[in-house]
Amino acid sequence: MTRAPGGPVPETDLSVSAPKGVAGGIPAVVSSARHTLGEMGVVRTLRTLSRLNQVGGFDCPGCAWPEPGERSPVEFCENGAKAVAEEATTRRVSRAFFARHSVADLATLEEFELGKQGRITEPMWLAPGASRYEPVSWDHALDVVAGHLQALPSPGMAAFYTSGRTSNEAAFCYQLFVRNFGTNNLPDCSNMCHESSGAALVETIGVGKGSVTLDDLHRAGLVFVVGQNPGTNHPRMLTALEKAKANGARIVAVNPLREAGLLRFKHPQRPTDLLGRGASLADLYLQIRVNGDMALFQALGRLLVEADDAGAGLVDRDFVDLHCDGFEEYARHVRGLDWSVVESATGLERTEIEAAFDLVASTDRIVVCWAMGLTQHKSSVPTIREVVNLLLARGSIGRPGAGVCPVRGHSNVQGDRTMGIYEKPDAAFLDALGAEFGFDPPRAAGYDVVDTIRAMRDGKVRVLVAMGGNFASATPDTSVTEAALRSLDLAVHVSTKLNRSHAVVGREALILPCLGRTERDVRAGRPQAVTVEDSMSMVHLSEGTLPPASPALLSEVAIVCALARRTLGDRTAVDWEQLADDYDLIRERIARVVPGFEDFNMRVRRPGGFVLPHPPRDRREFPTPSGRAQFTVNTLEVLAVPDGHLLMQTVRSHDQYNTTIYGLEDRYRGIHGGRRVVLVHPDDVAALGLAEGQIVDIVGIHGGVTRRAAAFRVVGYPTARGCCATYFPEANVLVPLDSTAEFSNTPTSKSVVVRLVPASAAPG
Ligand code: SF4
Repeated sequence: MTRAPGGPVPETDLSVSAPKGVAGGIPAVVSSARHTLGEMGVVRTLRTLSRLNQVGGFDCPGCAWPEPGERSPVEFCENGAKAVAEEATTRRVSRAFFARHSVADLATLEEFELGKQGRITEPMWLAPGASRYEPVSWDHALDVVAGHLQALPSPGMAAFYTSGRTSNEAAFCYQLFVRNFGTNNLPDCSNMCHESSGAALVETIGVGKGSVTLDDLHRAGLVFVVGQNPGTNHPRMLTALEKAKANGARIVAVNPLREAGLLRFKHPQRPTDLLGRGASLADLYLQIRVNGDMALFQALGRLLVEADDAGAGLVDRDFVDLHCDGFEEYARHVRGLDWSVVESATGLERTEIEAAFDLVASTDRIVVCWAMGLTQHKSSVPTIREVVNLLLARGSIGRPGAGVCPVRGHSNVQGDRTMGIYEKPDAAFLDALGAEFGFDPPRAAGYDVVDTIRAMRDGKVRVLVAMGGNFASATPDTSVTEAALRSLDLAVHVSTKLNRSHAVVGREALILPCLGRTERDVRAGRPQAVTVEDSMSMVHLSEGTLPPASPALLSEVAIVCALARRTLGDRTAVDWEQLADDYDLIRERIARVVPGFEDFNMRVRRPGGFVLPHPPRDRREFPTPSGRAQFTVNTLEVLAVPDGHLLMQTVRSHDQYNTTIYGLEDRYRGIHGGRRVVLVHPDDVAALGLAEGQIVDIVGIHGGVTRRAAAFRVVGYPTARGCCATYFPEANVLVPLDSTAEFSNTPTSKSVVVRLVPASAAPG
């Protein structure tokens, strides 16, 4: 649907059917084939998919779910196939397209339509005062960027964003360039997803990453899947859950929405599954209220402590005494928990929580997996601390088959952080970086995503460089963010395809087209491979084989090194050309700066790569200041939702990966041919005096400011009472920039208080 001049109009092709009760199966095969064959044709599809996630092949540009040690010839899911098709498409955005369409025209196209134009083939420049992008040489493009950066009164007036697709080598060079330039302004997509996980885990167990391997998941006795929809967002996780169940695990799904991928699964690549009913997954499905998870885990803690007080021996005293601080304070706190508060926060019956507790009591091999449903609330960090409290009390960290499992979204988002893409780097990292490259890195903390938007809005950041991603659509408070982007002197986007950010520009803009994962990367006559780190800290190689979409494309590494050389001139002692021509040399430097990467070049060439050290997982050592894991005491606050309002969460559709929209189908939820829907419990639809199918505006008020998302169709849906769900980026306009998680500054996209008003009503 094109954006009409007066704003969005209702989608006429939208239809709704009953939500599905099973994920995968023949529809997944058909959908994969439709996307891949439609974008790539038969030969290219076979050639590409046969190398996807294989040893010696390329890493899926989709999510960060790990590959098993033993791989099948078809080691990808429907969404991986879509991600590859999106990148390896044979469509191209020609010069003629840019000549035909002004930037104002591009701004009228939906994200889906922009993406479908195909790959960008040469650097494009929007000159000051121009209305259209025009092709330019790389030389000219580099001069434009260097000229702007050199002219800034201070390095802190530029910000350098990173999306989680960026390889380890490109990310390492990028942060080196930025710090050599003189700033730590390195916002990244992690600021908007698992920042809360990192903050809570560093504080409590000393490492901000998950502590389980795939093998742990397969061996677990109990798996919680909390605030996560793996059927759509990490589909191969369903294979791991299926295996865990076959090995005897029980699964508890905790989610406000009933999601097909948590109910049943038919493995799309197993012919016997296609005809049968598939494997059942969740043994217990807790349809919790949005933002109720902290109360749930505190209640489980209370039941555990009470059972232990009664002599059940469920607290792992040996582990707690040997490795943890703060258990008694924690126990005292949860003993005083008020059940009525728990019930109103969670919307669950006490008996449901007791059923979950019975499973907790039945095994000490407990894994808790989570995603954005836990990380994007004001109380996200305390909520994840409560997850850790429960696991510590059961001794379920550093035990085979047990641990914390924050499931990462973008394919190398974890690796980018490991490589130093972080606005608040620790002193040890900066010391090592400075010693290795002979400069004094800046020490002051830089801007994260939210602070970058504020700084752009306030005129403190004048240049934005974005390594991949789609800043305008990935971020909250669309109107504020887009106004901030339009105020810039220069925006630079390293991209493979068009997206909304290219159409929301200030005085001058550049699109620098780069190679994708699927493509051959040859430097100085030699093929190069990059590396990535998955959600379980495995580091491995990725090497594309397709001919590049255009001979004018450069790799992300080459672009970063060229930008650094041109910008820094004789202010740098780094031989950027050498690094750009041989990625082994970058890996040698990484090995000397980043702990855990010793013998990087040798170890990453082993089949499957290597796993990074994780002291709590490996040795039950906790690198916190005290050297012990920390129980924490967290005050439970129930989000107040006034009468007539709902608590809204933003979600993805099944035809979507982050801000990339592959199509207009959300097959499992029964939404077809459109995206402007708001999913509401049928009883709430009636209680609010609305009707299913009615077109409404969604209105939020925060800090005295009214925000409105227009023309959404009301869909009656099995979600928790008092809650609703909408797709992002369409609903990002409702997420206030100034509503962020405590301790992580992540926008609270999963708990926005809204009301639904008939579409014709005046704002207010
Ligand atoms: S589970 Fe994630 S990494 Fe694996 S194929 Fe699917 S999208 Fe790609």
